[in-house]
Amino acid sequence: MALLEIRDLRTYFPIRSPLLSRHLGDVRAVDGVTLDVEDGETLGLVGESGCGKSTLGRSILRLIEPTGGSIEFEGQNILALGYAEMRDMRRRMQIIFQDPYASLNPRMRVGEIIGEGLRIHGLASGPERYDVVMRILNRVGLREDHYDRYPHEFSGGQRQRIGIARALVFQPRMIIADEPVSALDVSIQAQILNLLDELQSEFKLTYIFISHDLRVVEHVSHRVAIMYLGKIVEVGDSKAIYADARHPYTRALLSAVPMPDPDAKNKRDRVLLQGDVPSPANPPSGCSFHPRCPFAEKICAEVEPPLEQDGDGHLIACHVFGPDGKGA
Ligand code: SF4
Repeated sequence: MALLEIRDLRTYFPIRSPLLSRHLGDVRAVDGVTLDVEDGETLGLVGESGCGKSTLGRSILRLIEPTGGSIEFEGQNILALGYAEMRDMRRRMQIIFQDPYASLNPRMRVGEIIGEGLRIHGLASGPERYDVVMRILNRVGLREDHYDRYPHEFSGGQRQRIGIARALVFQPRMIIADEPVSALDVSIQAQILNLLDELQSEFKLTYIFISHDLRVVEHVSHRVAIMYLGKIVEVGDSKAIYADARHPYTRALLSAVPMPDPDAKNKRDRVLLQGDVPSPANPPSGCSFHPRCPFAEKICAEVEPPLEQDGDGHLIACHVFGPDGKGA
């Protein structure tokens, strides 16, 4: 059994007319996602901006309430949990944000921010809480004198370390890292990625690593899931995705990644994206990628391709390049 099992998860945001509050339709941010996350792995979740990956991350933690489907974490159906039970469950499933500054209370000292969760949940108080916070501060590469400082006194990389410390203080089993290095300089990105890697080994953490940047995901993920317009279109072992991506959308994303070796880039089967991402309020029929896909056939506009297994855990949702397609 996987640590996290997501089945047909949907998160829709209703569109209402401003005057009559009539329900006009839905923005289908997450639209039928089925996904497993194994204990101790890093699953990279990749897609263009607006594809629903951050909404999926927040839906897993019920920071946004899903519309339907199921989520099991450690074998427990978390959509059935009440408010207090879910609050306790979130100690096991934490999140790190892209912009930690926006989520850090500017009027609280860093030591208070990191220890706040311990206080709220009644897990530690007084000197014991202080000791725990100090240990975590040191572990994420901050100094003891940082305890009494305010968030605005820190650099972007240090603020992300504070965000990591705040998640780590609960000793979670899984962390959803939502674009954790996207706002950082490249040299600082490497430091934060190394820190996350060390912490994974030390604390036996499972990560869902959300990013629009395939280069970053390649370095940190055991498996990669590609998301397009609220749906998962390809999942596979990280090496398989980068060496032998099958879905045309995955190949288009890879084609856009700069390659240090120009020959390697020439060898790659390039797929150029056409047009813009359609609105999730009015997704295309059939395969939602078909208006932009250079390989689209008649069936693609009519029938949604299922996410099907093609041996050794590689899943593809494509009529042409899926297991039974003629391009496979
Ligand atoms: Fe392209 Fe058709 Fe495959 Fe969709 S199902 S990705 S439109 S070939």
